[in-house]
Amino acid sequence: MALPEQTATFDRTFAGRTPRSRDLFKQAEVVLPGGVNSTARTRHVGWEPYPLFAAGGEGPYLFDVDGNTYLDYLLGLGPLMLGHRPAAVIEAVIETVRKLGTVHALPYELEQQVARKFLDAVPTAEAVRFTNTGSEAVGSAVRLARAATGRRKLLRFEGHYHGWQDTVYWSNKPRPELGGPPDAPRAVAAGPGVPRELADTLIICPWNDPDAVERAFAREGDDIAALLTEPVMCNTGCILPAPGYLQFLREITRRHGALLIFDEVITGFRLALGGAQGYYGVQPDLSTFAKALGGGFPVAALAGTWPVMELIADGRYSHSGTYNANVIAMAAVNATLDLLRVPGTYDRLHAVGERLMAGLRERFAAAGIPVQVQGVGPVFQVWFADRPIGSWRDADAFARTGSFRVFWEEMVLRDVLFHPNQFENLFISTAHTEKHVEATLAALDGALPIVKRRLAMT
Ligand code: PMP
Repeated sequence: MALPEQTATFDRTFAGRTPRSRDLFKQAEVVLPGGVNSTARTRHVGWEPYPLFAAGGEGPYLFDVDGNTYLDYLLGLGPLMLGHRPAAVIEAVIETVRKLGTVHALPYELEQQVARKFLDAVPTAEAVRFTNTGSEAVGSAVRLARAATGRRKLLRFEGHYHGWQDTVYWSNKPRPELGGPPDAPRAVAAGPGVPRELADTLIICPWNDPDAVERAFAREGDDIAALLTEPVMCNTGCILPAPGYLQFLREITRRHGALLIFDEVITGFRLALGGAQGYYGVQPDLSTFAKALGGGFPVAALAGTWPVMELIADGRYSHSGTYNANVIAMAAVNATLDLLRVPGTYDRLHAVGERLMAGLRERFAAAGIPVQVQGVGPVFQVWFADRPIGSWRDADAFARTGSFRVFWEEMVLRDVLFHPNQFENLFISTAHTEKHVEATLAALDGALPIVKRRLAMT
């Protein structure tokens, strides 16, 4: 959507508040491709005219290098479950590293204590291996599923993101003309450099469409090693599973001898202490965790039932990594889980998020701007659309991404921060309270008349 004059006004005002970010970005572009270190921070995914440069944070607030303080719903894209700089976690990491160092290439006692704590929190998992990033954990889960079943194909869904490894870097947001029929999509590599032959190992289905999954299993069920899904689709805005859908995926995979893998990199330790699997009451064979698990420190986990994890135990499957379960990661998980398992934590988190979602709905409705606020308390998105969004094709066809951008611009100027892309999420941390929700809604009250005026001009 073209908004030339309004965007020029925004650019001037934004530049007026953030001159140092602009200068730093110019300098960064000389040495870092795109001026950043991950695609989600680039201009072309929405950080126009340049990303803000962070100077720090405290609880629910992020500070930029120009002295602005934002109520933060970006939250590092999920890891800051406890808000910025959670003192207990940071102290625990510093103290443990002082005592134990960082890596040993040997086992140590803390990692099994943390594993027990993890498994107490996620009772649907029976064993766990720690690693460093979500992409690593998902890559391992997929290969392990193939090793365990002796089968080749992976069934996964259009619009989901499972990290950047070749085996899964497909069909995240394919252009519809490349993606084929909506009810039987083709595998589309998410970027160049991915071997085309891997398309043949993938079956892509639309999400929340049991019939498509039924058809895939009827056609080639004997060849399907695993079905991989985000239990809540958080990589196309936020789309909840239809009631009974995850149970259906459990049942059909079991019926065909395929493994069910939940990619809980976002939902793990966010929806509930036991992840989406606990929240929805579905036990996958394998699941992957990252983000919220480490309270802001880099760590990930591959968890599963013993019949599958046994392959790692007996050496048939090699799960390796120099930095797996390093001291920094284990100390962070140890302290984070202590905080997350305090009774009432998730009730409060959900209550705060639901209050914000309700406030957003009320205010947009009163302003006569049609939006769909979709998600659960701890993670959601405001879709600028006239109808609920249930899949990537819905998102592509019905979401008004330019309108979302206008909303983002007016909120960031009022010190409320989230990702500028309609297809990302807003995150809540345990540091967010009713008070912060009220402040956010007050900012929205200031923004809405201008958002409305700007949208009327388009
Ligand atoms: N799976 C999901 C569901 C994710 O959202 C992400 C990252 N956003 C990944 C995997 C990859 O995780 P990482 O960025 O830690 O490699």
